[in-house]
Amino acid sequence: MTQALLDLRGLVKRYGGLVATDHLDLAVQAGHTHAIIGPNGAGKTTLIHQIAGGLQPNEGRIFFDGEDITALPMHRRVQRGLARSYQITNIFKSCSVLDNLALAVQARSGTSMRFWRPAIGDSAVFDEARELAATIGLEPHVGTLARNLAHGQQRQLEVGLALATRPRMLLLDEPMAGMGPGESLQLVELITRLRGSTTILLIEHDMEAVFQLAERISVLVFGRIIASGDAEEIRRNPEVKKAYLGDEAAA
Ligand code: ATP
Repeated sequence: MTQALLDLRGLVKRYGGLVATDHLDLAVQAGHTHAIIGPNGAGKTTLIHQIAGGLQPNEGRIFFDGEDITALPMHRRVQRGLARSYQITNIFKSCSVLDNLALAVQARSGTSMRFWRPAIGDSAVFDEARELAATIGLEPHVGTLARNLAHGQQRQLEVGLALATRPRMLLLDEPMAGMGPGESLQLVELITRLRGSTTILLIEHDMEAVFQLAERISVLVFGRIIASGDAEEIRRNPEVKKAYLGDEAAA
């Protein structure tokens, strides 16, 4: 069996007496788009925070590409290729789309605080920023101030900022939240485009999007993975129907 790119072993996170992550094991294979779904309060956000490095587990280990990253701070995980797309909070609203992307490229290449000795030149930074704008479907809006983008476009820009770190794995935390159907479709198209080149771990409430995008789905209930499989297996699984879709769906 091939080694998983991300491997969670026996992860436990407690909030006082509440066990939000309960001895959780999860393997995400390189190249896969793997979704985690589950009812409200199942522990999805808590889990993604532990993977990204914003929250320390009480027990268990997190391996990325075979290396134990459990104790690494967030920025060191990003350097190793594990990037999380934050929900809009990363965007400089008064900068253009292109400048936002250029700043992210520059931050990755380590030049932002070393003006006198740039590791990559201005034009290379902006070339890469333009390429990213095309990848995320915002090429026609490169000159638009981020604050003037529609909500869905801001989400696309967020993904672009994460991509600027050249991740080997992208963590997407409810990317479709608060979007209309047209905007969701744009993001589904973007994630579909990324699938070939980046391993994606997706947490998402929009079941249609999940079934469309993910080749593997894990279902989280009370901090435990109760089932993993492809869309068909998850749709058919009676435990999942009962726990996630409600008793009437299992009838
Ligand atoms: P949702 O889909 O509603 O966002 P979720 O699956 O992301 O939920 P979490 O937000 O991870 O679930 O919460 C898991 C459990 O841990 C819930 O019972 C929640 O109330 C609890 N919880 C989350 N954060 C904290 C905290 N900082 N302190 C105490 N309890 C918390």
